[in-house]
Amino acid sequence: PIFNADSSLREWVGVHTDITEQKIAAQKIRESESYFRRLTDTVPAIIWITEPDGSCSYLNKLWYDFTGQTKEQALGFGWLEAIHPKDREQAGEIFISANSSQKPFSNLSRFRNSGGEYRWAVDFGSPKFDANGVFEGMIGTVMDAHEEKLAEEKLAYRTALLEAHNQAGVDGIMLVDAKGKIISYNQRFIEIWNMPQHILADQDDDAALTFAMSQLLHPQLFIDKVRYLYENPTETSHDHLEFMDGKWVERNGYPVIGEDGTNYAWSWTFRDITKQKLFEKEIRDSEERFRLLAQTLPQLIWVTDELGNAEFSSIRWKEYSGLEPSGEAEWKAIIHPEDYNLINSAWIHSLTTGNIFKSEVRLKNKEDEYRWHSVNGEPVFDKGNKIIKWVGAFTDINEQKLNDERKDEFVSIASHEMKTPLTTAKAYLQMLEFTLDESNGEAILFTKKAIESVDRLTELASELLDVSKIRLGKLQYNLATFNFNDLIHDTVESIQLTTPIHRIIKSGEVRDPVFGDKHRLQQVVINLLTNAIKYSPDADVVFIDFKQEGDTIQVSVKDAGIGIAQSSLDKIFDKYHRIEDHAVHFQGLGIGLFISFEIIQRHKGKLWATSEAGKGSTFYFLLPINNSSSQ
Ligand code: ADP
Repeated sequence: PIFNADSSLREWVGVHTDITEQKIAAQKIRESESYFRRLTDTVPAIIWITEPDGSCSYLNKLWYDFTGQTKEQALGFGWLEAIHPKDREQAGEIFISANSSQKPFSNLSRFRNSGGEYRWAVDFGSPKFDANGVFEGMIGTVMDAHEEKLAEEKLAYRTALLEAHNQAGVDGIMLVDAKGKIISYNQRFIEIWNMPQHILADQDDDAALTFAMSQLLHPQLFIDKVRYLYENPTETSHDHLEFMDGKWVERNGYPVIGEDGTNYAWSWTFRDITKQKLFEKEIRDSEERFRLLAQTLPQLIWVTDELGNAEFSSIRWKEYSGLEPSGEAEWKAIIHPEDYNLINSAWIHSLTTGNIFKSEVRLKNKEDEYRWHSVNGEPVFDKGNKIIKWVGAFTDINEQKLNDERKDEFVSIASHEMKTPLTTAKAYLQMLEFTLDESNGEAILFTKKAIESVDRLTELASELLDVSKIRLGKLQYNLATFNFNDLIHDTVESIQLTTPIHRIIKSGEVRDPVFGDKHRLQQVVINLLTNAIKYSPDADVVFIDFKQEGDTIQVSVKDAGIGIAQSSLDKIFDKYHRIEDHAVHFQGLGIGLFISFEIIQRHKGKLWATSEAGKGSTFYFLLPINNSSSQ
């Protein structure tokens, strides 16, 4: 307005200015701001802006979506609340120091999402300056790095694991890339190969191979295999390397192949197997020795596994029978039909109990002739005491058997033939005794002595006859119920009369009557007592003890005599067996214990001995009270 002097309005003056440019610029700014906002809200990253004092003035939508924070909560320094308590302090410090030094920064920390879960993310920030270079604050982004961080952790873990595994293993390990360049190796690898450190430090592959070859007995085979594998990268390899110094090493090669089929590397492992090789050789040698021995022995040798399946039979089998005893059919063809069941059940018994296998059988030879063989088989145990094999041999005892038979036959005939003249002699002696009167004092004594001797002879003859009867299974038993105390008492009394030096000390009692052959059992007690006296010439006592325990009677006869060596203990019950040392000084036939054994066995009892050479022996037998023998 333009005024008059009296201040009244005189006229208006106006100017029109073209502001189109300004209007467009403002419009552009608005558009650009909205564009920026849209942009920041759509990029898959969190964007933030802070003032020069560090307080946050802007966060894009993604921040609010992700954290669930409101503007009021987040702006300023509230955003720090969304960081994991353990990472918060560090995140704050890094930001503040970057802000005050006006430098870019990056920092990894865990951010809490709206669901309360934490995710790893990286916060990147840069300083912002205006056109005049004045610091305006910072601008930055937060980017999710959760999967990467986990993968990184996993990778670090796996690398550590692999490394520990490499070093801890007993195997030497080496990794080479597809071109043969050494990538890594462990300590054990160096030890096994004695590889000089400088070769490995230089990763000099050719030098390493050359050095390896110089160590080996067959370097060509070694290098051929290496070359072959590099040309055939999908194959694995397994071989044994023999070193010049006698060492053996097992080598395994595996290609490291990626999912896409690329061969990235080769993993080689080396294991010292020298000990194992030595063992193997020892076993081979010992097996070889065994085989050689088995083939040269005259016996028919066999080996089976723990279940009794044939594993080996010596060449003598074939020579003897024309067959190899590999299965039941062959066995049936070789063994005499009458002996088959016996030996078979003995074998099965041994297989199930682990007891020594022992029997006598007739085996057919190529000429279809049966010859007697004894068989002895023993289990072989492993370290854990488990049976792993059976080894045994058949020995030809045909001559021996025939001799025994002839001997038995002779003994049987001789003893039989002796009976009549002995009976006659005794009859005449008894008549002579009657005809003598008191005036012939000496003659009566002589006659009595002669009768005693004839009685002893008759006893001997009948014992001999018993032996042949046992062989034919014809020993007679007269079973009845009797008083066992009486038996012991009577026997001790009569034996005591025959020995001027030894005192027989008797102890014990049996409650119940016994069912059995009193006469035969008496024969056993007589035998044990006379042996105890005979084989203890320097002693003056012999003990007999008897007792009842439940349904069983146990009798023991103990002497302080010459004793029996451990190795002979199980043989003394054999027919005609006499211990050689004893036989020189003591008379006998070696049949008493054989007959006693048979008698006790027939009563379903048990007879055995314990002894120590030079100290004395104790013979025991057990007898069931109401035995059901031969009924
Ligand atoms: P014999 O006494 O007639 O030789 P036996 O069959 O009674 O026959 O005994 C067999 C062997 O056992 C004897 O030859 C002897 O070597 C040994 N023997 C038996 N009893 C005893 C004992 N009490 N002390 C030491 N050795 C004994």
